[in-house]
Amino acid sequence: MATTDQDIRWELGDLCADSDEARGRWNDFVERAQDIASRYRGRVAELDAGELRSLFDELDELEQGISRLEVYSYLRLSMAATDVDANDLATYTRERASDLENLLVFVGLEWIAIDDDRAEELLADDELAPYAHKLRVERLEKPYVLSEPEEQALNARRPVLQAWQSLHDRQVSTMEIPFDAGDGEGPTPHGVSQLVSYLYRPERELRLRAVDTLYEGLEPRADVLAASYDALVGDRLTTDKLRGFAHPMQPTNMSNELDDETVEAMLTVIEESYPIAQRWFRAKAKLLGLEKLALADQYAPIGDPRRFTWDEAVDLVDSSYTRFSPRLAEIFRECLGAGHVDVLPRQGKATGAYCAAVSKEILPYVLMNFTNRLRDVSTLAHEFGHATHNVLALEAQTWRSHRVGLSMAEVPSTFAQSIADDYLLENETDPGTRAALAADRLENAFAAIFRQTVLARFEQRAYEVRGDGRSLAAERLNELWWEENAKYYGDALEMPEGYHLGWSYIPHFIHFRFYTYAYSFAQLAALLLYRRYREEGEPFTPKYLEFLRAGGSASPADLVAPFGLDLRSTDTWREAFAELSELCDEAVTLSSESRR
Ligand SMILES: [Zn+2]
Repeated sequence: MATTDQDIRWELGDLCADSDEARGRWNDFVERAQDIASRYRGRVAELDAGELRSLFDELDELEQGISRLEVYSYLRLSMAATDVDANDLATYTRERASDLENLLVFVGLEWIAIDDDRAEELLADDELAPYAHKLRVERLEKPYVLSEPEEQALNARRPVLQAWQSLHDRQVSTMEIPFDAGDGEGPTPHGVSQLVSYLYRPERELRLRAVDTLYEGLEPRADVLAASYDALVGDRLTTDKLRGFAHPMQPTNMSNELDDETVEAMLTVIEESYPIAQRWFRAKAKLLGLEKLALADQYAPIGDPRRFTWDEAVDLVDSSYTRFSPRLAEIFRECLGAGHVDVLPRQGKATGAYCAAVSKEILPYVLMNFTNRLRDVSTLAHEFGHATHNVLALEAQTWRSHRVGLSMAEVPSTFAQSIADDYLLENETDPGTRAALAADRLENAFAAIFRQTVLARFEQRAYEVRGDGRSLAAERLNELWWEENAKYYGDALEMPEGYHLGWSYIPHFIHFRFYTYAYSFAQLAALLLYRRYREEGEPFTPKYLEFLRAGGSASPADLVAPFGLDLRSTDTWREAFAELSELCDEAVTLSSESRR
């Protein structure tokens, strides 16, 4: 279907007029930071609660000004990756931001240096209430911080670690594997993500060849990829010992504000629920007319969705939000009206989709690459789940306290997607579209919940092996990877031999250990909240809006407590799988219906 969609672009005027103005403002901010440093450096421990409050208020305002310039620069680059002015500004922005960080780093350091009794006394004062939670969290690191010379020595070897990381990244990003995409061009060089993109294609032969080609291409690089990982894991374990961490997952759990017990309860129940995925894999094999699903069939499309115009997508999100809470729909329309969404793909524009929060005064900006697909409608609902969260949290919280960690950040977006998906399923009559939607949402949930847990379990075992003094050679990693994946796929899906190397190109392992389980957490928490909404109906909504308004002013456990959810209990997590199991039934039913 031809689109009549007009080319709707961002209006950046709310942020900044041009790059000259941005540069000028950076200079003002650096001066202000110098002024703050001259008044407070070396004095944080002497301040009373009221004085600390003024300091944090001042920083809060400054940080929002900085955010405005950073977002401006980021959006400019997103619109035109090769624009010289945008690139110059991005470089300038990075440098000024790091100057500012250096000028103000003393605040955090002096704050955690204050002794515990005095800190508790200060935090009990109402003056500090708007910042209390974040200030408490900062202090949790205190027992693991070493002396200044020790920290400097640890910092000094950062370039070496970055060298291992960039070696790994380069090995993966420079891969050019000849592959015949069947487009009449013959074999042409393909990168990893290009090959992976064929897994979503309907032609089975293409999918199977793409998988084989990917792993054949990784094979000659496996040793170097393993050596990079081995070096980084070894270094992290050594540093953990110096700092006194109890286990390799602890730093990540701390940054997610989740205790070890919660994370383990969640991972255990996820593993116990692998059979739900296996049930879908068996049903999917039948739908595709196969005896057994192969790895290459995992994301093969189901159903045949119709196209959606931009106006239709906007109406769908608007109506589904309105049904849940008119306030969310109002924020959605305000952002559209203010020119804070950039809709169509263009040459040089960033791919994917995101939402960027700016400040208390300025509405967030959303990037889309809308191509009339069903998936784009869900993405629009998802990104505005972030945007509505930003707006409500910034209405109620300080800038510092509105921010949430990765595990919570994806909860409102996933929830908003469920609102829109359900609305669409209820109102859509085309069977192919209904089937595609149900299958997509299920497979996205599997990718977030199950696959990311397989990754986390693989990492745990790798750290264990390395901690026992054995090296992480490619063959050993192959084995660990295979075993953790075999638990997930069971006998419902055939893994090809080459898949032993599935660990080798995953950037999370290299850049941020145990990063992936936050995706599982967010998806499950959103499922739990959505189940409560379906059970409770309207009385749920005000509680949910309060949850959005709370932003990052409390720990994840406290944020979800008003919904009666206890994250340490395996029963809580099992409830999420009751919901997922229903989504699985729905996908099986709608997919079979669409084939009649
Ligand atoms: Zn998101």
